[in-house]
Amino acid sequence: METNRRSFLAHGAAAGAVATLAAPAVVKAQSTFNWKMTSAYVKGSPFYMDGPGSATDLARRVEVMSGGRLRIQVFGAGELVPAFEGFDAVRSGTVEMNHANSYFWTGKTFAAQYFTAVPFGMNFQGINGWFYDGGGIDLWNEVYAPFGMVAMPCGNTGVQMTGWFKKEINTVGDLKGLKMRIPGLAGKVYANLGVDVKVLPGGEIFPALERGVIDAAEFVGPFQDRRLGLHKAAKFYYTTGWHESATVSELLINRAAWQKLPRDLQAIVENAAAACNVISEAWCQKANSDAMEDLVRNHKVVAKPLPEAVIKALRSETDKVLAESIAKDPLTRKVHDSYFSFKAKYDRWSEISEEAYHVTVRG
Ligand code: CA
Repeated sequence: METNRRSFLAHGAAAGAVATLAAPAVVKAQSTFNWKMTSAYVKGSPFYMDGPGSATDLARRVEVMSGGRLRIQVFGAGELVPAFEGFDAVRSGTVEMNHANSYFWTGKTFAAQYFTAVPFGMNFQGINGWFYDGGGIDLWNEVYAPFGMVAMPCGNTGVQMTGWFKKEINTVGDLKGLKMRIPGLAGKVYANLGVDVKVLPGGEIFPALERGVIDAAEFVGPFQDRRLGLHKAAKFYYTTGWHESATVSELLINRAAWQKLPRDLQAIVENAAAACNVISEAWCQKANSDAMEDLVRNHKVVAKPLPEAVIKALRSETDKVLAESIAKDPLTRKVHDSYFSFKAKYDRWSEISEEAYHVTVRG
């Protein structure tokens, strides 16, 4: 024992000597980096810009962990560039980072859809399994390689809600002619079922719904929807989050800037983003459970899932829309196949683990 202890001490002393000798190189590496990060969301937006796991929280964590060696100045939508120009701002190097959702960039590369949300996709646990251990982040970087950017998940809303409807939905036929605010891929699916799809920015949803310009609207979930006042304009709140089962926030980074960061600062960014991914979703669980209780108890909101026949029709139209998208682009097909083969295995496991717990144990 004594011999071992001595040898350990001797080893420790030698390691100390090496560290001392290496010190000048370490000092040289301590450059300070001042970065800019834009966002698709306006200053003060809960979850996206402010609060646990938000863009400003990410910047704060990076600054604290790096001892001030990497400072990220955060700009809300419209402060430096308009809401949906973060992709081009990062690509051109105007800013080093952007905080948004990759499905805003489907006009640049359709495969980006899969890194935010795909209808009838995976939940928070499943998508993180795909990202961190199933090759999802590698594919994300492959999709952005031609644009000179890298990306990683840095937030998640958890499951979203179908949305607010002025009239009850009992059959697929009730969707026909309905004017609904619903962006993205889900909008295409609804359009196939006869919905008159409207795309409005967040701030315009409430007045449009209240005045009857639209009959239904999707936004996020109980906390964010209540903040817009949507419960004052429609009574039926359909809960099935078929269209966005775990919506991912994206940290988009200029690759040349990323490669200039020392490895320890890269690790700090990766760890801060992973922390925000979990912490933001945790915040949503608390905020949404409080808000949903308030909506049902105090505002007479009728919250219920969509009828099964409607879900079945939405699923069948989703399959058609996705089949058309993957037929047009080999990279989208590659991402689609990776995502859905991971999901198939995850679903089988989830059925006998998490789902079984909810059904048989929780009561
Ligand atoms: Ca949404």
